[in-house]
Amino acid sequence: MSLAPKTDAVPPVIVAGLPMPTFRRIGVEPITGACGCEISGVDLKRPLDAETLAEIMLAFEHFLVIVFRDQDLTPEQHKAFSRCFGEITELPQAPLYDGHRDMQEVRREAHETKNVVPSFEHFHTDSPFLERPPLCVVMRALAVPLAGGDTAFSNAYLVYEDLSEGLKKLLDGLKVVYSGKDIWAKNEKLPEEKRLRLREGHSFREEDMENIHPAVRRHPRTGRKALFVTSAYFKRFVGWSEAESRALLDYLQSLAQQMHYQCRVKWKRDTVLVWDNRFLLHRGVHDFSGERRHLIRTTVIGERPI
Ligand code: MN
Repeated sequence: MSLAPKTDAVPPVIVAGLPMPTFRRIGVEPITGACGCEISGVDLKRPLDAETLAEIMLAFEHFLVIVFRDQDLTPEQHKAFSRCFGEITELPQAPLYDGHRDMQEVRREAHETKNVVPSFEHFHTDSPFLERPPLCVVMRALAVPLAGGDTAFSNAYLVYEDLSEGLKKLLDGLKVVYSGKDIWAKNEKLPEEKRLRLREGHSFREEDMENIHPAVRRHPRTGRKALFVTSAYFKRFVGWSEAESRALLDYLQSLAQQMHYQCRVKWKRDTVLVWDNRFLLHRGVHDFSGERRHLIRTTVIGERPI
């Protein structure tokens, strides 16, 4: 009889590029193989015990977007849950929700065209022009269309990991200029029906609206690398011309479109969703008309990208 070590151990299931963690306190159902999960067995209105919170954070780190259903939160409960992820902040460009300086809204009325919502028709990361762009966004649905208006996500770790060694090496040394300086001026020039709904005033300084960040950023704890290049607010790569920058940007942006990097979430009233704004791209899908869509959100400050 052989005394050789057992070799029939079941290999771990890989989801979102890494072995699937084990959860005991919460229910976790992955949405796709690329990113996203639905979490059950949690009431976000109540204070969370340490173990449950730790598992929610583990799910967030692994899946990058976590979805909770039927969470009828007050704005104060929404903010309290958001603070589990870090300090919440206002944003210079996003419209406020109901006078809360630290809550924003994404709203399209039934009669409005799709342009009013600055949730661009392409994958993007929110506010990359800030020195410390958002770590995550905590969003809750107040009103949603019967069908359509999903939010889609694309995993920027996986996009980076699939690149050739040559392109990885090039990108590892690149920096990007992101600028939000001219969004109001640009918006003013558009015909009225094409203008985005932007916040009217803010207290951010001109120099707060432009920053240089690495094209590939690392998770501050795990060191895992992800592509941090998207077209929204993108100016150029440092040391490159705008034309050269645009050509490479277009290629990189096209990669995020591939379905095997993505998941999408169908909203229902009182769905609460938290997405990582550092390692995941997102976009609204504006495939509905004649219905109201109203989402409210908090924004958690992230680290300066490293
Ligand atoms: Mn956005």
